[in-house]
Amino acid sequence: MRKKLVVGNWKMHGDVAFAQPMLSELITLLPESMDVDLAVCPPYPFLSQVQASLVDTPIALGAQDVSSGDAEKGAFTGEVSASMLAGLDCAYVIVGHSERRERFDESNATLAKKIEFIQQAKMMPILCVGETLASREAGNAESVVASQLSGVIDLIGVDAFKSMVVAYEPVWAIGTGKTATPDIAQAMHAHIRQVLASFDAVTADTVQLLYGGSVKPENAAQLFSMADIDGALVGGASLDAESFSLIAQA
Ligand code: PEP
Repeated sequence: MRKKLVVGNWKMHGDVAFAQPMLSELITLLPESMDVDLAVCPPYPFLSQVQASLVDTPIALGAQDVSSGDAEKGAFTGEVSASMLAGLDCAYVIVGHSERRERFDESNATLAKKIEFIQQAKMMPILCVGETLASREAGNAESVVASQLSGVIDLIGVDAFKSMVVAYEPVWAIGTGKTATPDIAQAMHAHIRQVLASFDAVTADTVQLLYGGSVKPENAAQLFSMADIDGALVGGASLDAESFSLIAQA
């Protein structure tokens, strides 16, 4: 039985005054015991502050990215290594978000390196995959997602997916208010399991698959009721304590 996981991706939002009150409110809104894992991924400058706010809470810390540079430290101006994130108690690191694939031209080779560094530092990568609207309209959604998965598997093997979360995030649904219907999301999640099963059936069955793309309190329960959806990667709605808490409770 796969446990549910809800992860908030704050993207490039928030400031020094934002995190602490927002997280205090979130914690008061959460029920005392919940059968779901929760995490928030703030921007790098606030990781340390958020780490302090999350001590003794059920919420884990995650980062939005990591360096693919070949060293734990060194002459990599502007980069942040996996070991630095692990040192801040990060449990998760998002990899290959469509905003990074598109705007920062991240290739499968870059993502595979990042995944290796994250896993070596004993954190869990959250690998994002998903098709653009043009690919969906051309009937290529499944093949695009399959090639994003096999592109990584070809480089670092399917075993890497034993300690990884995969987030299906259709690009056309991210930040647009358009959510994939539960049926569309379920069909792609089942496809992802099928692709992984062609390499390793046990991994395909056990890997947590999150849906991401305009998840809100109003649509979360229906999405989470689908057989292959194990939770969500939440962008906009994770910035609001009440919305994030309602999604977690769903
Ligand atoms: C995301 O950034 O991963 C995301 C899913 O954003 P939103 O929920 O705002 O669509």
